[in-house]
Amino acid sequence: MDKVRIGQTGFDASKLAYGCMRIAGTWNPNDIDANKREAAHQAILAAYEAGYTLFDHADIYCAGACEALYGEVLDQVPAMRRECLIATKCGIRWQGDPNPDAPHRYDFSKEHILWSCEQSLRRLRVETIDIYQLHRPDVLMDPDEVAEAFLKLHASGKVRAFGVSNFPPSMVSALQSSLPFPLVVNQVEIHPGRLDCFVDGTLDQCLEMGITPLAWSPVGGGLFAEGGAVRPDDPRREGLEKLLAELDRLAQKHGVTRTEATLAWLMRHPSQIVPIVGSTKPERIRQAAKAAEIEVSREDWYRVYVAARMRPLP
Ligand code: NAP
Repeated sequence: MDKVRIGQTGFDASKLAYGCMRIAGTWNPNDIDANKREAAHQAILAAYEAGYTLFDHADIYCAGACEALYGEVLDQVPAMRRECLIATKCGIRWQGDPNPDAPHRYDFSKEHILWSCEQSLRRLRVETIDIYQLHRPDVLMDPDEVAEAFLKLHASGKVRAFGVSNFPPSMVSALQSSLPFPLVVNQVEIHPGRLDCFVDGTLDQCLEMGITPLAWSPVGGGLFAEGGAVRPDDPRREGLEKLLAELDRLAQKHGVTRTEATLAWLMRHPSQIVPIVGSTKPERIRQAAKAAEIEVSREDWYRVYVAARMRPLP
């Protein structure tokens, strides 16, 4: 599989990343039974064996249980630690954390970043996180305070590189101006139903600054995957059905599934988008990995883009 550089740090990763958000099969850690644990292990192993080399986590995925499930697999398969990058995130705090009356909020305070990182390291059973990301923009972000936290984590060897998620370009620039090292990823929602990043400056900034865009929900949570169907009551039903037909046409041309066609369409962008595949089914995880082999022509890319815009180009 071709290699891409993650930012300017010399990291290599396969052109697909695997997202661990759904591996527990629940958002309630108390619901994880032996079957769910086994299914999570199988999903991680399927991704590893299919050649995914970047695994994406967050402290909030099943309240830390997804990181812990990954840590269990790492213990069983130590080679995974050498061969794969571990990315995780912090900065979202739910209502009731830590006191019952605390509201849902974002928290990029130095204290919270340092504390969250320690918890993730413990659950993942590693000494170093490869890419540590701020999950969603904290309106109260003070770039200098974040930089203090990042410098401390970097100097102590607890984090190798940093990134952000769901950041608009202006916030990336503000944070970058306080950092002595380059941000390596901006993880954003990109799929044929969510085109904002193509035109709002996010991907242009990635190109300019050498930041790798990681695409979350790359098949739109299932709609743009093989077998995905538009809900009968969806107000955009007609447009979405035309879009699915265009993706199916692309898939047919290359003899692949719609999932692979959608992922390959994302990867055609010059910013070298790395889709984060989120299926929990080993067969689908393996299938999606083949997307890296497909080359989408400019003409086919625009056919899908225009169908996704649901209006002609000017
Ligand atoms: P996705 O790959 O677009 O969607 C995966 C979902 O689609 C699963 O529920 C999967 O179900 C379903 N699906 C149905 N048919 C499928 C098929 N034929 N092939 C593949 N999937 C099919 O991505 P996602 O899970 O929404 O997100 C991916 C990753 O992005 C997450 O794991 C997380 O790491 C990251 N993420 C980040 C943010 C953020 O704010 N930074 C937000 C959301 C997600 P099955 O499991 O049954 O296959």
